[in-house]
Amino acid sequence: MRLQFSAEDEAFRQEVAGWLRDNLVGEFEQLKYRGGPGDEHMYPEQRKRWERKLAQGGWTCVGWPRAHGGRGCSIEQQVIFFEEYARAGAPGRVGHIGEGLTGPTLIAFGSESQRARYLPGIVAGTEFWCQGYSEPGAGSDLANVKTKARFDEQRGVWVLNGQKVWTSLAHEADYCFVIARTDPDSVAHQGLGFFLVKMDQPGIEVRPIQQITGTSEFNEVFFDDAQCDADDIVGQPGDGWKVAMGLLGFERGVSTLGQQMAFQNELDQIVALARANGAARDPAIRQRIAQAHIGLKIMRYNAMRMLSGSADGSLQREALIYKLYWASWHRDLGELAMDVLGPECDILEGAPYQLSRLQSMYLFVRSDTIYGGTNQIQRNIIAERGLGMPKEPKVAIR
Ligand SMILES: Cc1cc2nc3c(=O)[nH]c(=O)nc-3n(C[C@H](O)[C@H](O)[C@H](O)COP(=O)(O)OP(=O)(O)OC[C@H]3O[C@@H](n4cnc5c(N)ncnc54)[C@H](O)[C@@H]3O)c2cc1C
Repeated sequence: MRLQFSAEDEAFRQEVAGWLRDNLVGEFEQLKYRGGPGDEHMYPEQRKRWERKLAQGGWTCVGWPRAHGGRGCSIEQQVIFFEEYARAGAPGRVGHIGEGLTGPTLIAFGSESQRARYLPGIVAGTEFWCQGYSEPGAGSDLANVKTKARFDEQRGVWVLNGQKVWTSLAHEADYCFVIARTDPDSVAHQGLGFFLVKMDQPGIEVRPIQQITGTSEFNEVFFDDAQCDADDIVGQPGDGWKVAMGLLGFERGVSTLGQQMAFQNELDQIVALARANGAARDPAIRQRIAQAHIGLKIMRYNAMRMLSGSADGSLQREALIYKLYWASWHRDLGELAMDVLGPECDILEGAPYQLSRLQSMYLFVRSDTIYGGTNQIQRNIIAERGLGMPKEPKVAIR
């Protein structure tokens, strides 16, 4: 297990920290600690400008190969970048779906012309993406997607009809990657395609979903004869499942690691509050703070164990517990935050609520146990792929 970074890595750390210190100033100062999960509605335009600033400094797509416009950082350097980014309180990334999901997917599965068309806008921080996977009847059971894509021979375009749901940041996105059924008679994971679709067109309607917090980070997206070009399908018709699953591998990869520093920031805030309001004198609260601290350390060691397991960052068996572990830890941290706040956590004016950061955090962290694979699905994955237990029975639903 490798637990330390090299001297070269530490020099890289100084470089990242220095750049952030020098550039997270002026109009970007107000973005500190803003725009993360549960706060993504804040400062979208300023955060898009921040993406361009990052790009100018060469700090977007740090893990992509140089040949595709990235910085070609090693796994260790990527971890350092994400850690320092969170330590500096730099804002939640509007570009994270393009950088973390679309780009690596196109690098692995896309054509030369798709890479030439779509990667530069992601690297430059000028084009933003959203993820069109989930539908009202297809969440955990993603293979049940009903959205259809038909090739119009006369016009030479793909035509999409159907509905997606929970599409984060669709209202801020220029493009959406969409899983849709190319073979209308197919079921489950067969007969699917993976499409690159421009959002600003007459056939797409984005309807915000208002949450209990009063904010709307995610949306319903309706496709009503929406179009994309003939070559905006990644792979062949029928390859959609393979591409979609490859993408989820990137979702569960190294890009999640920097969040530990953000978690540390939240824990620090809770500890400071407990000291200030006297909650730290309660032995039960003290125990729970200690548990949270230990949990975060374990999370870090597990991440380091995962990373040291493979040279190319591909995930090993140990990685299977990671999502379940951090999501459950974070959910518990939200409950701890409310107990430290005490009666104050219940006090709200009328809607739209002016929630404190900790109140927002508490409400949002429930969703950590849902997106990217629910806790129950994670347990299935651990049982089947990690422990070799029998697969759960699958029933094809038409
Ligand atoms: C904050 C947030 C952002 C999101 N952003 C996006 C996005 O940008 N794009 C996108 O496409 N989607 C997005 N999603 C959707 C997310 O991927 C789904 O919510 C998730 O896959 C679960 O699907 P579902 O909501 O349909 O729940 P369901 O799949 O209907 O699950 C309901 C319950 O049943 C349980 N369950 C289901 N199947 C099994 C099983 N086989 N075994 C045991 N238990 C099971 C689940 O664990 C859950 O408790 C987002 C969700 C959230 C919360």
